Amino acid sequence: LDIIEVYKSLTNKSKSLFEESSKYLPFGVSSNYRYFDPYPIYLVKGKGSRVWDVDGNEYIDYILGFGVLEVGHSHPRIVEEVRRAVEDSTILGFEYEKSVELAKIICNRYNVDMVRFSSTGTEATMHAIRIARAYTKRKKIIKFEGHYHGSHDQLLINVNPMRLESRVPTSPGIPEETLSNTLVADWNDYEGFERLVRVHGNDVAAVIMEPVAMNMGLIPADLDFLKGVFDLARDYGFLVIFDEVKTGGKFYSGASGYYGLKPDLVTLGKAIAGGLPLSVVAGRRDVLGVVGPGRVAHGGTFNANPLSVRVAIVTLRDILTEGAFYYMNSLSEELQKGYEDIADDLDIDLIVTKWGPSGMIYFNSKVPKNYKDFIKSDFKSWFTYFYYMVAKGILPMASFNEQWTVSIAHTKEDISKHLEVARDAIKLAKN
Ligand code: PLP
Repeated sequence: LDIIEVYKSLTNKSKSLFEESSKYLPFGVSSNYRYFDPYPIYLVKGKGSRVWDVDGNEYIDYILGFGVLEVGHSHPRIVEEVRRAVEDSTILGFEYEKSVELAKIICNRYNVDMVRFSSTGTEATMHAIRIARAYTKRKKIIKFEGHYHGSHDQLLINVNPMRLESRVPTSPGIPEETLSNTLVADWNDYEGFERLVRVHGNDVAAVIMEPVAMNMGLIPADLDFLKGVFDLARDYGFLVIFDEVKTGGKFYSGASGYYGLKPDLVTLGKAIAGGLPLSVVAGRRDVLGVVGPGRVAHGGTFNANPLSVRVAIVTLRDILTEGAFYYMNSLSEELQKGYEDIADDLDIDLIVTKWGPSGMIYFNSKVPKNYKDFIKSDFKSWFTYFYYMVAKGILPMASFNEQWTVSIAHTKEDISKHLEVARDAIKLAKN
């Protein structure tokens, strides 16, 4: 079975649209991460746990806008709030009344003192490192290999999962000088981190991390590793930034709540505004206190726009409740268990990792702890699995370095269907 041929036979209109759109959009897409060979599918709409493409194929969606839509597609309460918000104007220019209410909700929920809003995760992490540098009056930033913090230059190093050189900008167009203050460490490797800090610690403004790494599948931090990092940060006087753009929407109070740790700065984005663009840099009062006119720059035309703010309030207050996380987690657990059963039955090396509503499968014999383990996975099998799943109406995850996400709209039946198809997909992948 040539699975790519099957994929092509089901997606004729996507192919035409790809050819047409490639005339106007480089690679036919608006975000590189949405492209895959031979061409991506073009979607038209979504409802609940389902999306439909231009060829009329229906899919059960576990991509959910790269982990944004834990509320599911077109949640009625959100549709209603958007309608109401639009009637009162989508952008007012001055400060918006309800942004205070949202700020309070976020401070309580994520255990932070102050917040500043922007629109994308990229902006939030960009601001976080500027704030950390201004606060500490130091230049260097430590990041971890395989962690992604958005598309601004300074953290776009050692993200690309296909290359193993020690220091590689993830894109042409990023001058080496821009990266001269960015240090890269291995995830979950305390000794390596300590060695780096012993040499550079007094020049380091902050360490930034995805506390559960979700741009190399799904690799949680070991708690002892995190505690060690926090201790070294305190000893050497640099800040800890949790980039919770993904994790903040995958556990009720984010990864900081899950691990019981209080980072100095936290960034949030993706799921917190129920599908609208909204991001946050948050943290300690004295640290955020450096921001202001004539002080640290932080601005944006669309920051805290009424549409995103109103939908975020409804999302966090009424929809993504603790009960919602309990439900999503239980479905995600069923997926995890189902995949483990498949691996046992077929007697193959398949590792499943999971955190809250998200999880990942690796064709690997060892649980990956960092990027170097991750890269040893058998990606050829993963791709066969992926195309088979898509051809059978399941969007399991956006890419080999992403993960599944379950929404409140998914049902037990969706999970059974997913696992039924996955069994055949994995069988084919391993043949
Ligand atoms: N941080 C993390 C952990 C992310 O996963 C992403 C996006 O995938 C970002 C930051 C960047 O967010 P955005 O794409 O909204 O700029």
